[in-house]
Amino acid sequence: MQTYRQRFSPRTGGTAGFDTLIVGAGFAGCVMAERLASQAGQRVLVVEKRSHIGGNAWDHYNADGLLVHPYGPHIFHTNSAEVFDYLSQFTRWRPYEHRVRASVDGQLLPIPINLDTVNRLYGLRLSSAEVETFFQQQAEAVDAVRTSEDVVVSRVGRDLYNKFFRGYTRKQWGLDPSELDAGVAARVPVRSSRDDRYFTDTYQAMPLHGYARLFENLLAHPGIQVMLNTDYRDIVHCVPWRHMVYTGPIDAFFDHCFGALPYRSLRFEHLTRPLPAGREHLQPCGTINHPNEQPYTRVTEFKHLTGQLHPATALVYEYPQAQGDPYYPVPRPENTALFRRYEAEGALLKDVTFIGRLASYKYYNMDQVVAQALSQFRRLVLAPATTP
Ligand code: FAD
Ligand code: UDP
Repeated sequence: MQTYRQRFSPRTGGTAGFDTLIVGAGFAGCVMAERLASQAGQRVLVVEKRSHIGGNAWDHYNADGLLVHPYGPHIFHTNSAEVFDYLSQFTRWRPYEHRVRASVDGQLLPIPINLDTVNRLYGLRLSSAEVETFFQQQAEAVDAVRTSEDVVVSRVGRDLYNKFFRGYTRKQWGLDPSELDAGVAARVPVRSSRDDRYFTDTYQAMPLHGYARLFENLLAHPGIQVMLNTDYRDIVHCVPWRHMVYTGPIDAFFDHCFGALPYRSLRFEHLTRPLPAGREHLQPCGTINHPNEQPYTRVTEFKHLTGQLHPATALVYEYPQAQGDPYYPVPRPENTALFRRYEAEGALLKDVTFIGRLASYKYYNMDQVVAQALSQFRRLVLAPATTP
């Protein structure tokens, strides 16, 4: 039987081959392709099994002419000047600060939980200093913060945890917060101020002409060829290449030989709705979270994100699923342990580099994937793998 080392050894074939074969045209694959072509003079082939570039961050105009994100709302935010400056070569930006309300006890309340959330939920008039004391009084003592339940109950106590986090998390992940790493719920902070922005990063903006245009610009270099509607396995043995950059699910690369890594999926329900005269939106902000009553987790109205003017409006409802396209790695200790086995196997393949959210099995935002691709590019170019 062939080993993976043999199956994925480079296919060199004269001068017509590619220096790098990149699997997946999401942020990881496109940034790597752009760097290798423009900075290292490489000939790059990007192979993508979907019918479009951009991975899960792709956007397009729907049948009604509204700009939507088919794979759920993507809001760009980063603290990295390097990432922002890099992407700014390929897009102009529209400033946008995302705001979210949670539908709790019949009210639409700010999430992340802040001073207004507490005052409106409990009918109080606390100051910032007083709400910190309130949080301390509610907080439960936890020996060590290990799980997503620990993170929230040790900061704001059981009632706010039950109203805002428990139901949402159980729906989103099919797991109780006590079964998920602390980092999942820790993505959402708690504030004693009135700041109701979802993110506080230095750079918060949306690509002015959309993500698809940004990806087209990333791939515009003449050294890059793109092959859509193609699983890399169908061409890996016939197209000559020297190095592979793989951005798909790492367990699929290895034929799930150690068992399947869980990835959480979603079903997206996209709707176009008419607007009452004189209104541009149906929702008061970009996203409404539904922690408790509904089967979906959140509803996003794209016009808040895109700034598009249009007589109608487009919404997307997110229904979590166990089966379907892999969207989220599921951060918990046993999954990380299983990932480590695949990672060790991958480290033996000197001709293959694994990057991106699915291949790294990390709950990365877009900017983190871009940062990872930039640093891996430097590693590849400064210390190239030796090929036989
Ligand atoms: P992907 O975008 O998944 O790209 C991988 C590509 O590889 C895919 O196009 C896939 O089709 C292709 N592929 C896989 N296997 C093969 C194969 N065998 N052959 C050929 N091609 C293959 N991040 C933010 O910063 N802000 C947000 O607001 C945000 N919102 C999100 C909302 C949702 C619902 C989801 C799921 C994610 C969100 N993210 C957000 C995260 C963001 O989507 C990712 O960080 C980023 O898109 C990952 O890029 P990637 O290139 O690693 O992976
Ligand atoms: N979360 C929650 N209630 C909320 C918002 C988030 O319980 O109103 C938890 C939930 O487990 C979610 C995680 O925090 O999966 C991270 O939230 P985020 O908004 O970052 O999720 P993403 O945009 O990545 O889906």
